[in-house]
Amino acid sequence: MDVKCKDLIIKGKAKSVYNTDTKGKLIVEFRDDITAFDGGKKDVLTNKGGYNAKVSAFFFAYLEQNGVKTHFFTMLDPHHMVVRKLEMFPLEVIVRNIAAGSIVRNYPFEEGTLLDPPLIVIDYKDDARHDPMLNDEIILALKLVTSAELKKIKTVALEVNRLLSALLEAQGITLVDFKIEFGRQGKTIYLGDEISMDSMRLWDKKTGESLDKDVYRFEKGDVMAIYNKVAQRITGPVKKQ
Ligand code: 5GP
Repeated sequence: MDVKCKDLIIKGKAKSVYNTDTKGKLIVEFRDDITAFDGGKKDVLTNKGGYNAKVSAFFFAYLEQNGVKTHFFTMLDPHHMVVRKLEMFPLEVIVRNIAAGSIVRNYPFEEGTLLDPPLIVIDYKDDARHDPMLNDEIILALKLVTSAELKKIKTVALEVNRLLSALLEAQGITLVDFKIEFGRQGKTIYLGDEISMDSMRLWDKKTGESLDKDVYRFEKGDVMAIYNKVAQRITGPVKKQ
């Protein structure tokens, strides 16, 4: 795909988005920056962007093959992804299969509790407000999406959960929770942003070991060694358990 990078549109904490010379297409750069706790902890870790981009591209392609519309077109190189230009919703759609992280800190769930059916939690994407949790009424009152779009977002989020859980399960990994973001082009809703070790909570099925950004947040080990291993494990051939 012959797409050339033009001006920077937005620089986030870990990714930058660029205009291109092709109408309707953007380039997302997966940088090596890693942050946690609303940017309170930050570092640059060599190759981090490449590992996240590889896993994101793999998941997007897999989801597309299974009928989920995503913004993904192709990788230009290990750090640059060509994507469909979307009008992004300021929503962080979180699906939780097992209680961990903020749901345990903020509510009386015990860590490790199975959440069946999975919980969908939607946060308002706003660092200055620390991404507060929304409910359907607030989402609609703020006109962040229409009620039909909200329904569609929830349906797709659960379908993404079902597909990713099955894929990861086959690699010996439990999908504890993840965050995804959506946007629209015209009337069509697409999955945007990324799905990577930075935006998922993954536990090794056998050892219970964290295989995601919790390793960085809570200094549980060599972050890049684990990202490298998990990226290979996710995108490689399914191993016998
Ligand atoms: P929690 O609410 O427990 O902090 O996060 C739930 C899940 O969503 C985790 O997998 C976490 O990595 C992801 N998540 C929540 N907020 C963000 C965010 O602002 N950025 C990213 N990349 N992931 C997030």
